[in-house]
Amino acid sequence: MAAFTTAEYMAALSRLQIAPHHLKMLQANYYAPGKTITATTMAKIMGYQNYNAANLHYGKLGRLIGQELHWIPLPKFAVNVLVDFDKPGQEWLWIMKPGVSEALEKLGLVGEEVPTIPEEINEAEPIFEGALKKVIVNAYERSNAARAKCLHHYGCKCVVCGAILSEIYGEIAQGFIHVHHTKQLSEVNAKYQVDPISDLRPVCPTCHAVIHLRKTPYSIEEVKQLMQAQKK
Ligand SMILES: [Zn+2]
Ligand SMILES: [Zn+2]
Repeated sequence: MAAFTTAEYMAALSRLQIAPHHLKMLQANYYAPGKTITATTMAKIMGYQNYNAANLHYGKLGRLIGQELHWIPLPKFAVNVLVDFDKPGQEWLWIMKPGVSEALEKLGLVGEEVPTIPEEINEAEPIFEGALKKVIVNAYERSNAARAKCLHHYGCKCVVCGAILSEIYGEIAQGFIHVHHTKQLSEVNAKYQVDPISDLRPVCPTCHAVIHLRKTPYSIEEVKQLMQAQKK
C-alpha cells in the first residue's frame, strides 16, 4: 500500500477544485470521534439514502485525489486513498489517514475559524442588554465541532419543514444545512456549555431565517405550527 505525505495530500487537494459535497464528506470524517466514521453515519450526515451512496461518493473523491497523487494502481476501494479500514463489529469503519487530516488542517479546510455558513442570518440590530450573550449563543451555530455532533445525531434534514437540500438543489447541496441554537438568552450564563444534541437542531436556511424573524427567536414548534396553519 502506497503511503503519501501530508504535503502531497495538500498539493493534491489544492490542485483539485474540490466540490462542496466532497469537502463536507471530508469534514464529516474529520469531526467524527477519533476521525472514524461508518458509511451509515456518513450517509446520515450527508442526507444520502443509504451507506451505498456514501460509499459511492466517498469512493469517487478517493479516486479523484488518488489520480492527483498519481497513486498507481489505485487501491481496489478508492476510498482507501483517504481512509484506513477497520471492522471491530458489524460495520466497517473509515479511519481518516493522518496525512489527510493534517492536510485539511494546514489548508484551513477544518478548524473553528472556518466559516460553516457562507451567508449569515442578518443579525444587524441595535445593541441591547443580551448582545454579548447573543453573540456567544450564535457562535455555536457556526462552531464546526458542535455542528458536527448535532448532524451526527440528527442528520441533515430540516427539523421544521423536512427538507433535505440535495433533493432540491442536487449534488452540491449534499450535507448542506444550517444549525440553529435553541436555547434562550435567559437560559444562558457564563458557565453555559452547549450540548449539541439537546441545544442544536438542523434547519434549512429558509426555516432558519423565519425562526430569526423575531428578536426573540420563534421556537421550532412555533414555526412548524405556522407552516401547518398555512396548509389548512
Ligand atoms: Zn426547513
Ligand atoms: Zn439560529
